[in-house]
Amino acid sequence: MELSQLTIAEARRALDSKEYSALELTDAYLEAIARKDAELHAYLEVWAESARAEARSADERIAAGSAQTLTGIPLAIKDNMLIEGRIASAASKMLEHYSASYDASVVRTLKDHGVVFLGRTNMDEFALGSSTENSAFGPTKNPHDASRIPGGTSGGSTAAVAAGLALGALGSDTGGSIRQPSAFCGVVGLKPTYGAVSRYGLIAAASSLDQIGTIGKNVDDAALLFGAIAGHDTKDGTSLREKGSGRTMKKKLGVPRAFLGAGMGIESDMKARFDETLTRLKGDGYTLVDVDLPSLAYALAAYYIINPAEVSTNLARFDGIRYGHSVQAETIHEVYTHSRAAFGPEVQRRILVGTFVLSSGYADAYYRKARAVRDLIRADLSKVLEEVDAIALPTSPVAPWKFGEKADPTAMYAADIFTVPVNLAGTPAISVPSGSVVRDGVKLPVGFQLIAGHGCEETLFSIGKDVEKGNSQ
Ligand code: GLN
Repeated sequence: MELSQLTIAEARRALDSKEYSALELTDAYLEAIARKDAELHAYLEVWAESARAEARSADERIAAGSAQTLTGIPLAIKDNMLIEGRIASAASKMLEHYSASYDASVVRTLKDHGVVFLGRTNMDEFALGSSTENSAFGPTKNPHDASRIPGGTSGGSTAAVAAGLALGALGSDTGGSIRQPSAFCGVVGLKPTYGAVSRYGLIAAASSLDQIGTIGKNVDDAALLFGAIAGHDTKDGTSLREKGSGRTMKKKLGVPRAFLGAGMGIESDMKARFDETLTRLKGDGYTLVDVDLPSLAYALAAYYIINPAEVSTNLARFDGIRYGHSVQAETIHEVYTHSRAAFGPEVQRRILVGTFVLSSGYADAYYRKARAVRDLIRADLSKVLEEVDAIALPTSPVAPWKFGEKADPTAMYAADIFTVPVNLAGTPAISVPSGSVVRDGVKLPVGFQLIAGHGCEETLFSIGKDVEKGNSQ
């Protein structure tokens, strides 16, 4: 078994044809994790014993001929999704010892499939960051260059898939957290349409932006995982009823050229890789059209007001009283302040900014203004997406950086420029590896991003596969 190359689709065939058992496959992953993860730190916890037990039941199901797509497939789960009886810490000291009392809906679905859960993966604390450096338990390394970040916040999940330490993974994407680390680790990451996958049991960061999505070695694997977890869920009030949009492809891509100019902080070779992919798609019969999306210039500012606003309200529940880290003190005020000191610096920063932009006297100037910009972005994108199948953008303006290089938080925020508009609009988007750049003599992967209209994941898969084809040429 060559785990670093193996795909879910191939493993499915091998398991069904009894080439190897789910237990053998699981053992191979556990062995690879034992060998490589001390260095990489993709996992916060590995569940070897229960993974083997799940693999044995999967083998029984396969033998009985009742296997589903994901039966016996070893997956990794980001540490912000609840699994009953397991710790779900969101990589925070606040929830270091918090054991989930129920399954997230996606976990329930995967359990029904008979998936093997290898462990929970590292992330930025409460899914706030872009590098996995904000984890309270130490960062994950990029499998392509251990001196560089894997991206974030789902950096543990994407590093695990890239390094052959899981066949696929779930992540969450609030402003790019699946797409950007997927790009940085050289794997495929899908951020589905808002509401296409249930958020029930996902530890909330910014509820109107958060979306669970999938990570795989190729587009087919990301699509396969999405097919398994998508669907209506009565436990999530924002869950969509309808599935897919059934639009026919025009093979037409929109490129917001003005958004890719100087001043957006895009590195020249990153831009060159993007242009090369576009040229290749054009050669494949795609029509490229320049699209005008002036509101995108304000997406980053709007996002970094709306995200902290929602984070500050969602994280108010961690007060030292109800659950999570609690410090005993003389007064209730001291209980709050001492307990909440367990939040790391970035989380505290978001709570402060969020509380400020929501405070009376400032809410009109900041929060409501940002909401108006969000409406504009959503309207602009959906208008353009009526004309084209998808909008193409780089996933990231920059290559994976060195640890500590973006210590200034606003420098880190600026790197999210091409991913945050998608979450503001609620549309689906995918990052597919396409080409590479060299930093300090090391080849690093580059991601190509496609954004489609609401419910048009199939469009992303179809164009994504065309992008992928070029990688093997
Ligand atoms: N980097 C963005 C932020 O810090 C997005 C994070 C995410 O998608 N969870 O908010």
